[in-house]
Amino acid sequence: MKLISTIAKVGILIFFVQSAFAAATGEPIRHVKTDEKVVALTFDDGPDKPYTEQILGVLDKHNVKATFFVLGGNAKAYPDLIKKIMKDGHDLGNHTMSHSMMKNKSVETMKNDIASVDKILRNLGYEKEITFRAPFGITSPNLKTALQQLDKRMVLFTFLPQDWTKISSQQIYNNVMKQMKPGLIITLHDGGARRENTVKATEMLIDNLQKQGYRFVTVSELLKLQK
Ligand SMILES: [Zn+2]
Repeated sequence: MKLISTIAKVGILIFFVQSAFAAATGEPIRHVKTDEKVVALTFDDGPDKPYTEQILGVLDKHNVKATFFVLGGNAKAYPDLIKKIMKDGHDLGNHTMSHSMMKNKSVETMKNDIASVDKILRNLGYEKEITFRAPFGITSPNLKTALQQLDKRMVLFTFLPQDWTKISSQQIYNNVMKQMKPGLIITLHDGGARRENTVKATEMLIDNLQKQGYRFVTVSELLKLQK
């Protein structure tokens, strides 16, 4: 009996250690393996005016939930937009305070930067998990350590549709559709520059993917569907 109870305890301990490890390996999640026709729309570098609001309008019109990887500085400047994102039921993610390249920074500096963004979002009332997306998708051993210590998951992407370059909405749309598959994390931008083409491309993507039977989920929902 005692042996069984010891085995059970060790089993539980291993389970918890593994869970903690899975949550904070520091390794980026780029795609979620699933057979379900699900896809996650994500928007980086906001919130920003007027594009975040325009994108929220498109999402609302089609009843689609998305994930916004925001900059702490922008969140501070536009708390009303963060509140609107939350009120509409979208996920928020952390994209550093000011989009600075994290690669050459110390673990402590990175941890402070990432924690500052979380604090702003928490103070605005966000209660769900806040995943992290590295600016430019660039990771480093120090960043990995910082994320492990913060017990924070990193969510990147398998490709970028290049919507920050001066391409048309049709080209942004085509770039995404070329790579489309279940579990894809689509990365677009609602801040940092003029984003009219991104707003248009977002609507085109939603229209066509919904016709193809795709369901849009937030990043946290997508992570739960991992096979
Ligand atoms: Zn970015």
